[in-house]
Amino acid sequence: MKIRFLGTSYGAPAPGRHQQSLLLETDAGNAYLVDAGAPVLDILAGEGYDFGRLKAIFITHLHGDHMNGLADILNLAAYFGIRCGIWLSEQRGIDAFEAYCRMQTPGWTGAHTPFFRIEEGAFYDDGVLKVRSVQTAHMKAPCFGFLLEADASSVYVTGDLSPSLEDFPAFLDTVPVGMVVTECAHFSPEALYERIRRTRCACAAVIHVMPPSRYEALAALAGDMPMPVLLPEDGDVYEIR
Ligand SMILES: [Zn+2]
Ligand SMILES: [Zn+2]
Repeated sequence: MKIRFLGTSYGAPAPGRHQQSLLLETDAGNAYLVDAGAPVLDILAGEGYDFGRLKAIFITHLHGDHMNGLADILNLAAYFGIRCGIWLSEQRGIDAFEAYCRMQTPGWTGAHTPFFRIEEGAFYDDGVLKVRSVQTAHMKAPCFGFLLEADASSVYVTGDLSPSLEDFPAFLDTVPVGMVVTECAHFSPEALYERIRRTRCACAAVIHVMPPSRYEALAALAGDMPMPVLLPEDGDVYEIR
């Protein structure tokens, strides 16, 4: 399974960085989006991407930096032949996006881009990719991290977390995953690294970093970590093992 970092910024776009979005691609050619804060449609349409590969979109929570790109996808889904389910963390998000679709397209039925509400635990399995959600305490409303497994590899995307890091999932301390993708906006690099150090993740990728000056500490301290630590930029692609 490959991961492409379409957007690595936090809260607002920054020079060279869109808001958060990850594109996963399996060996079979299936593609999945985790979060869509970046202008995903512009990025992928600009390179002539085959949108028929896109099988599902999973949104960790209803903050704009994780879903601002979804409106474009919905607006032009028919034009680009996008047929995929869209999983959202809350019913009010589904209601809002359905209203948006009906405003754009009277008679919209959602047949090609149906919405689903994420429940905690295993919630997606299309025979290629399995996804399990773990709730975080980032918002009072439901918000999630995701364990995504395909091609005998796995990645855990934390979504946004609480400042205490108490919602960093404990199962990562005992269950090995190929990569953890996490944020560094709500706690210090030192606190994040201390938490990641206890996990069995083969590799860590830190995005959604705020303030940007934290990148210096993240880079300086990475060499002391027991696993490789990546600080991806937009467009970077990694193979997850
Ligand atoms: Zn958030
Ligand atoms: Zn965020």
